Amino acid sequence: MKIIMLGAPGAGKGTQAKQIAEKYDIPHVSTGDIFRANIKEGTALGMEAKSYMDKGALVPDELTVKILLDRVAKDDCKNGYVLDGFPRTIPQAEVLDKAVAELGETIDYAINVDVPDENIIKRMSGRRACVKCGATYHIVNVPPKTEGICDVCGEKLIVRDDDKEETVKNRLNTYHEQTQPLIDYYSNKGILKEVDGTKDMKEVFDDIVKILG
Ligand code: ADP
Ligand code: AMP
Repeated sequence: MKIIMLGAPGAGKGTQAKQIAEKYDIPHVSTGDIFRANIKEGTALGMEAKSYMDKGALVPDELTVKILLDRVAKDDCKNGYVLDGFPRTIPQAEVLDKAVAELGETIDYAINVDVPDENIIKRMSGRRACVKCGATYHIVNVPPKTEGICDVCGEKLIVRDDDKEETVKNRLNTYHEQTQPLIDYYSNKGILKEVDGTKDMKEVFDDIVKILG
């Protein structure tokens, strides 16, 4: 099963993608996580990506597409994957369609996690992230067992550099300009599914499971 998660930054794509990955036994592929891992390791790719991420802008398609195609070509993606944060532009979606079509396959679902902008700013200021294992928390909604420490791997949690209010506003603008058109793109392909992302995260997941079966 090949699934794409759509939605504004902070809509809950990663939160849901992790649970989908576990239930359907497919890898969770997040381009944001790949960039953050590279930043942490201090790679050239990480440094270049950071210059865009810190501004709330998108990393250029050329760079992002290559990373994604390399990742989904790995063995563990043979039976499908859930993409979180990719595609974010129409050209990225077109490259993905072409790559999948070359294998004689198709994307099964594009799930749009719908959350209005007003809710997003509140969510982002409370988000805490583990750069080591990719786990995500929220200081009110999903607090870790020990404050500031990842439940899964014990790493110190961070506030993402791009979760500052000013950057979140830029990211929302970027989303509306460049990523939101993907909703129509996948709707026209007949694979778009909408879920109300303002609900409690367990309810959102139940709604997604109803769609995926
Ligand atoms: P995205 O991957 O779309 O950027 P995340 O999954 O990281 O978003 O979620 C953003 C923040 O909102 C996180 O701190 C997360 O714990 C919290 N969150 C996710 N889903 C919900 C929900 N349904 N209700 C309330 N908070 C949520
Ligand atoms: P995320 O973790 O998905 O919120 O992504 C964090 C940041 O990484 C984004 O704000 C972008 O700067 C960059 N990024 C992640 N995925 C993509 C993508 N598909 N295209 C361009 N930039 C991306």
